[in-house]
Amino acid sequence: MNGMTEDEGRERPPFRGLSDRKHSDEVFRKLLDTAPDAVVVVDELGRIVLVNLQAERLFGYPRDELIGSEVEVLIPQRFRPTHVGNRKGFVASPKVRPMGSGLELFGIKRDGAEFPIEISLSPLPTEEGMLTSASIRDITDRKQNELRVRRIQEHLLSAVESIQGAFAIFDAKDRLVLCNSTCHRILGRGIEGALVGRSFDELVDANLEAGAFHPSGTSATDLRLRWVAYHREPTGVLDVRTREGHDLRIVERRTPEGGTVMTIWDVTEEVEHEQELRRARALAEAANSAKSEFLASMSHELRTPLNAILGFAQLLHRDKKTPLSDRHRERIEHVLKEGEHLLRLIDEILDLSRVESGRVLLSLEPVGVAQALAEVRTTLEPMATRADVEIAVRPVPQDLPDVLADYTRFKQILMNYGSNAIKYGRRRGTATFRAALRGDVVRICVADDGIGIAEGQQERIFQPFHRAGRDTGAIEGTGIGLAITKRLAELMGGRVGFQSREGQGSEFWIELPVHHPGVEGPGVSRAEARSEDASPAEAQGPRRLIVYIEDNPSSCALMEDLLADFERVDLITVPSAEVGIELVRARRPDLVIMDIHLPGMSGLEATRRLRGWPETSAIPIIALSAAAMVSDAERVEDAGFYRYLTKPVRVDELARALEEVLMAPPPAPAE
Ligand code: ADP
Repeated sequence: MNGMTEDEGRERPPFRGLSDRKHSDEVFRKLLDTAPDAVVVVDELGRIVLVNLQAERLFGYPRDELIGSEVEVLIPQRFRPTHVGNRKGFVASPKVRPMGSGLELFGIKRDGAEFPIEISLSPLPTEEGMLTSASIRDITDRKQNELRVRRIQEHLLSAVESIQGAFAIFDAKDRLVLCNSTCHRILGRGIEGALVGRSFDELVDANLEAGAFHPSGTSATDLRLRWVAYHREPTGVLDVRTREGHDLRIVERRTPEGGTVMTIWDVTEEVEHEQELRRARALAEAANSAKSEFLASMSHELRTPLNAILGFAQLLHRDKKTPLSDRHRERIEHVLKEGEHLLRLIDEILDLSRVESGRVLLSLEPVGVAQALAEVRTTLEPMATRADVEIAVRPVPQDLPDVLADYTRFKQILMNYGSNAIKYGRRRGTATFRAALRGDVVRICVADDGIGIAEGQQERIFQPFHRAGRDTGAIEGTGIGLAITKRLAELMGGRVGFQSREGQGSEFWIELPVHHPGVEGPGVSRAEARSEDASPAEAQGPRRLIVYIEDNPSSCALMEDLLADFERVDLITVPSAEVGIELVRARRPDLVIMDIHLPGMSGLEATRRLRGWPETSAIPIIALSAAAMVSDAERVEDAGFYRYLTKPVRVDELARALEEVLMAPPPAPAE
């Protein structure tokens, strides 16, 4: 083709333009008929001289019928008289314009149906006089859509209005575009006229100036700053109080268009309710600690006379000079037996009240499970023999890691489980001890094949003084052991549980965190988040945990005494920094008290490490050091202690520091 297009290659007919009259009429006719709007042309007297195809279709007339008719045939009867006047007016001063601007216009079809229209008029001066061309558009669809939009708007507005709280929308320029009447009531004070159209700043300022809000505890300027900051970056909620004492909760959220939706709720009742709950909780806490105090002092008081009763009963029992008759001996044996039971009861109550009030000193250290089990077995053996129950300790896996526990308390728990397995076991049955690693914890189980626990009794078995039903009637017990066990296990960062079938036997277990020697790795147990420590009985508020890293027992005892004045505080002491930081990492206590001169890793180094781990970096650390040396003081500067106190401890100073930390609200639990 030599680069030529097909057209270029073909011979083109000569150019004719529209010189041919017939041809040009045809083109104009087609142009008119393909126009999107109906076109009606009238002469000075209002007679139709020309219509296009759209006009024929729109009004339903054949062209011939329209030509020569008065244009008013296309207008509903009621508008005709005015239309004649208007038409004449247009002829007198003709110019292009929409017709009847601001009015709703209607056309009428040949069959009498009316429909909304929009008309634009243009004068057409011709040799034979002034013609007027009207472009007519059927706007039925548009009107219907407008109606639909209006309905939706109305729904939206009545929904917004029916919201109980205040509702407002600000646009991207921070101007109020919509609000309901509650919003008007709350934010409208100090403002004359409409709220819509005002800027957020204007609204806030006017309200604060009018003293509409009571800036509880802060100045109006502070409240303004807080509100504006919240408005710029709305997360959570903002609480304010009105002059009349209503508590309002403001919730703002950004819209995808860059505006803001604001709701304001009256939460006065909720706030009052919360305050009441808090008061009730404080009362319950006070009552609970009074109960613990009472139990503790009662138990002390009871022990003294009981000591005398048991002492003299024993003297009578073994009196060689004037031996007792068999009858008397039998009776005094009853006194001794019941007295000893009473003594056990008192001791356990004393222990429980100490554990419950947090006044128990735990010293956590790595504990070998096999050794603890062997010792427990030796202690329980005589009891088992008497009850004709065999004790079986399954071999502990060679590689079973140590647990992090208080040795004495750990053994106390195993003894309690073991003695229960014997007491509630079957004659010639077996009490079986087993230990195994389960992820980051070691689980120790004590199983028996005895009377078991009825399903209905199982739920409350770890609650104090709860003994499971009449089957235990003949078996001596106090119903306190398991309650102490649970609390101790939780204090050590562990958990307890059991399974039991009535008539077949029970299996009680405890899980304790594994000790990880050399804690640099990520393997420190997180299993026991603090929140899990809370037992249902603790709905009275969170307990606080303090870890004291200290190798001197009398310093530990002093701390224990000092903390006796604080409610719901648990103290765990750890004799070495290596174990201490591991424990802190796993338990995330509320406060760490750190001795500086420790065997092995120093307190400074331990603090440096704790500051380095994200999960422990925010925990306050109070340093307790013997005689501060100058070289120390420098290093202490960067170590980031909450306080640095020197020994001998000034009790007032320490108590103040403790108060500061413990009275502060607990931080949100870390993820
Ligand atoms: P105590 O044994 O002094 O009554 P505990 O707190 O140790 O108190 O136990 C509470 C109750 O749980 C017991 O009274 C008993 O009903 C039930 N119980 C505990 N261990 C077992 C067990 N191994 N088998 C059956 N019941 C048990």
